[in-house]
Amino acid sequence: MGGFGSGDWADACLRKASVEICNEISIKLLRDNGFLDSNKTGTVEWKNVAGDVVGSVEVESFISVAVAKTSFLVVRHGVLATRVEQKIELIKWPCNYGGFRYYFACPAVADGVYCGNRVTKLFLPPAGKVFGCRECYDLTYQSCQESHKYDKVFGHIDNADIESLSVNQALRLGGL
Ligand SMILES: [Zn+2]
Repeated sequence: MGGFGSGDWADACLRKASVEICNEISIKLLRDNGFLDSNKTGTVEWKNVAGDVVGSVEVESFISVAVAKTSFLVVRHGVLATRVEQKIELIKWPCNYGGFRYYFACPAVADGVYCGNRVTKLFLPPAGKVFGCRECYDLTYQSCQESHKYDKVFGHIDNADIESLSVNQALRLGGL
């Protein structure tokens, strides 16, 4: 995955050490905004603390409440040649008290193997092309500021540092 972990992400992380912006979609976000009740199309935008939109993705949900039927999302981002469309299955996981709750099945494919992890959050690195789970992207919750301190100690960020990416999103919903 060229570009992931290089360039934009590292620049953004260093430029705004306190504003970490690995973009995220969560089951909670979708539930709170009605994407899981019935079919819905909308835009999820990510903003930094200054309110600037730093990324966005179109989300279309296809919801079948019947347990035996599949529900899924289609997410689209980028433009023209870089446009990416991903289908993300929504797993209906039974609750103890009856009914079910939704989880994402991680849609990422690595070395030809579909991940399928049952997760409540998926991540899209700013320079990344597809959503994947924390495990797929090997994300940690170390803050960018800590990475930055590390940077000062060693005088530069090398690939190993960049690959242990940090996640702490400023996430808001817009455009609905
Ligand atoms: Zn995954």
